[in-house]
Order: sequence, then C-alpha cells, then structure tokens
Amino acid sequence: MRGLVTKSTGSWYLVLGEDGKRVECRIKGKFRTKGIKTTNPVAVGDWVTYEMEPDQHSAVITHLEPRRNYIIRRSVNLSKQTQIIGANLDQAILVVTLASPPTSLGFIDRFLVTAEAYDIPAILVFNKLDLFSDEGLQILQEYSGMYERIGYPCYSVSAQDGTHLEQLRALLKDKTTLVSGHSGVGKSTLINALEPSAALKTGEISDWSDKGKHTTTFAEMIDLSFGGKLIDTPGIRELGVVDIEKGELSHFFPEMRARLNQCRFHNCRHMNEPGCVIVEAVQNGSIEPSRYESYLSIYNNQDNRN
Ligand code: GDP
Repeated sequence: MRGLVTKSTGSWYLVLGEDGKRVECRIKGKFRTKGIKTTNPVAVGDWVTYEMEPDQHSAVITHLEPRRNYIIRRSVNLSKQTQIIGANLDQAILVVTLASPPTSLGFIDRFLVTAEAYDIPAILVFNKLDLFSDEGLQILQEYSGMYERIGYPCYSVSAQDGTHLEQLRALLKDKTTLVSGHSGVGKSTLINALEPSAALKTGEISDWSDKGKHTTTFAEMIDLSFGGKLIDTPGIRELGVVDIEKGELSHFFPEMRARLNQCRFHNCRHMNEPGCVIVEAVQNGSIEPSRYESYLSIYNNQDNRN
C-alpha cells in the first residue's frame, strides 16, 4: 500500500492510504536522510509504502520515496537532535506579529535563511492587523516593503476578524504549505479561521521538548477544503539554521547573493575586507541594516556551533 504521512510524533506516524483510509504506522528498518541524523526518519509530507500488521489495525512503513525537498530543524535543547519537520513542500509561511508578542527581525531572517537553504519559497504573514494603530500600520508597511523588495511576498491579516483571509486562501489553494511561527502569534487561530474543521486548540503553549511529552506531535498535515494542504508545526518555535557553511551564508540573503561576485575577494566575509560591495551597499542604504545585522548574527552563531 502507498500513502502520504499526515502526522508524525517521532515514534509513530499517521498515514493516509491511497484507499482513503488513515492508519497508524511504525517504522521497520533504517531510513536515512543523506548527511544528517534525525529523530524522525520519516516526516509529514513523505510518500511511503506500508504493510498492514496481522491485526489489520496498524501497519509498518517499509519504504520511503525520494523527497522533492524537506526542511529540518535542530532543537535548541542540549541533545541537539535534528528533526525533519516537513517534506515535499511547495512553500513555507512564517506567521509574525509586530505586537503582543512582537516577532524580532532576527527571528524572521533566520526563518528566511533556512527556507533559502532548502530552496523553499517563503512568505511572511503579519497577523493581528486589527490591533494596529496608525503608527503600527506605518511600521507594518515599512517591514513588508523591506521584505517585498527583497522578493518575499507579505500578507497582512487578522485571524480574529477575518480581514484579508481570502488573499491567503488564494495563496494556499492546491499547494502544500508549511506554517510556522513562534508561540502566541495566532497560528492556531489562523489555521482554524482558514479551515474550521481543523479545530486546533488556541491560546495554549506547547513545547515538544517538555519533560514527559515524548509523543507530542512534531507536525501535522491539514487538508484545506478549498484545495491544498497545510503542515502545522505545533511547538516548533524556530527552524534552526543548520548545515550552512559560514562562507555560503551570504548566498541565502537574496539581496546579497545578487552582488556577491562584485566583491574584490572571492572569499570575502563582508565584514572589514577592502572592496566589499556588501558593506558598501549597507552604507549607501541599498541593503537594509537589519538584514546585515542578521547576517552577522547568524555568521557568529555558526561560529560557536562549528
Ligand atoms: P499560536 O500560539 O500561534 O497558535 O497562537 P493562538 O492562535 O493560540 O493565539 C494566541 C492569542 O492571540 C490568542 O489569545 C488569540 O485569541 C489571539 N489572536 C490570534 N489571532 C489574533 C488576531 O488576528 N487579532 C487579535 N487581536 N488577537 C489574535
């Protein structure tokens, strides 16, 4: 039997078979993802082959089909485990808020770098539009203008009162979309507003790494009744920037990538080297200082890690 993995807890998987039935599966044998060691070798969005157990209730995954792409995250706890949080994605959305709670630009940029590294188109959704004052709206315009100029589509919505959700529906239709965002931004409220049958719990803080919660869901696929699939990532606050060589980092900032071959030195770090067009572009305002700061912050963080 062939099926699509729609839920993953790390110890068992829910698979939607081509016969339309969902079945709980375990894994038999070793499945490896080239170059990385993961706690969940099979991920939501994966296509697999499975065999029913003699009891006819559960099944065993015996084969994993090659992935078009995937996105992983390294946990920030001591174990430094790596999880694949979604496979075969068309796009990834980050839900952000400017207030209650505010999402930092550094957080946004780390998400965008991760999406670039995995070659997955990224989109920013600014939620809680109903809370914005005139001043807030101006900041929103500045931020979304900045990211749209770089090439990232931005949407402003209110999950609560439904403003502009029809634009999001058009974006999501017939696509497989990973939805991410730190706790409290309204991701669950937004998914419920888009697909009321999802009935996700809102206003709760979950964290997969909490003691005793070993079966907490990493990711879950939600069918959209207007066409398309969402992959929700409960408890995943941040995608880690993993497996990026420091020297490659600037390639994952599109506005830097476009200029890279103009630096005097081919191995320019874009810090204090003479003839660096990136630093020059920051100074003359054609690269945003906040983006450059994120570059330096990720660069230095990779330093500690390696
Ligand atoms: P999650 O942690 O990202 O899943 O966030 P929730 O969906 O649980 O929402 C966190 C809080 O923000 C809840 O109290 C929601 O009612 C509230 N919230 C979500 N969306 C909106 C919105 O568009 N406007 C306002 N004012 N509040 C919202």
